[in-house]
Amino acid sequence: MGKVLSVTEAVDVLLQGQIVGLPTETVYGLGADATNESAVAQVFIAKNRPRFDPLIVHVPTLAAVREIAELSEAAEQLFLAFSPGPLTVVLPKKDTIPDLVTSGHPTVAVRIPAHPLMLSVLQSSGLYIAAPSANPFGFASPTTAQHVLDQLGNLISGVVDGGPCSIGIESTIVDMSSDAPKVLRLGGMALEQLERVLGPISTQLSSSNPNAPGMLTSHYNPGAPVELFNDREALLAALQLEDSDAIGILYWGETIAHASSFNLSEQRSDLEAACNLFKGLRLIGRAPVTRIYVHLLPEYGLGRAVNDRLQRAANK
Ligand code: AMP
Ligand code: MG
Repeated sequence: MGKVLSVTEAVDVLLQGQIVGLPTETVYGLGADATNESAVAQVFIAKNRPRFDPLIVHVPTLAAVREIAELSEAAEQLFLAFSPGPLTVVLPKKDTIPDLVTSGHPTVAVRIPAHPLMLSVLQSSGLYIAAPSANPFGFASPTTAQHVLDQLGNLISGVVDGGPCSIGIESTIVDMSSDAPKVLRLGGMALEQLERVLGPISTQLSSSNPNAPGMLTSHYNPGAPVELFNDREALLAALQLEDSDAIGILYWGETIAHASSFNLSEQRSDLEAACNLFKGLRLIGRAPVTRIYVHLLPEYGLGRAVNDRLQRAANK
């Protein structure tokens, strides 16, 4: 049964080829030694994750990025600007990383995370750590150690408790493996910030993208059907027409008095809404509701990443 582990205990578990829950500033990861195929296989099994969905490899330094990937000048500039942080870069891979990690792709997704305990685990183990989000495939990502224990506790030896994630939404993924950079996943680093370094950048987010086989259009299942609203008035009007106790609402801005509801950010902050998103999806999903109404965020900053998750949650 999984329990809370110290950094030293987690390092021992990883060095023995087993898997462990680890805190990052984005979401909690389920970590394995990226060079140990049997450890990596345990990650896919515990998550029930399809083998075609590649894992992100976490490293502590730019020097370690070079040990696992071909680093172009432009990619190096990106790491220097934004790492450690919520940015994952897809690069041509080196042979140090087994094909199982990258689902057979010639590229590897690499991130230097900013969480101090994750950096300690990376530094004291000397490992490259393959870590997807520590949730069963298709469900909300974990943003506390307790979420990891609730969802995967009986399948892993334990989790390092690094407190609630400060960003709370997965990393932004940029493909730098060809001449034209592409955003493959919206996440904890805003597009506007990236564009300040890279210039205008195209996005390729759908499940039809062969380079991001894991970007499935349906994901983050909260347990009840989700309906999306672009404006608050429309959501409130729809609520009037229904037996409103059977409906949960996930919204932002001024408080709405309603039984099963969760306010992502009363202050209308995109950062706060991103940080609260998975907690909100979990709480509303657990409430006795048959449908969930959601007020989408404005499309700027992390609002885009939040809306992307909500749209996937609404897809059947
Ligand atoms: P998760 O670990 O759950 O945050 O998901 C990681 C995501 O990273 C996957 O679903 C893929 O979309 C993406 N990814 C990982 N490796 C690659 C790669 N080599 N090329 C493109 N996307 C990747
Ligand atoms: Mg995930």
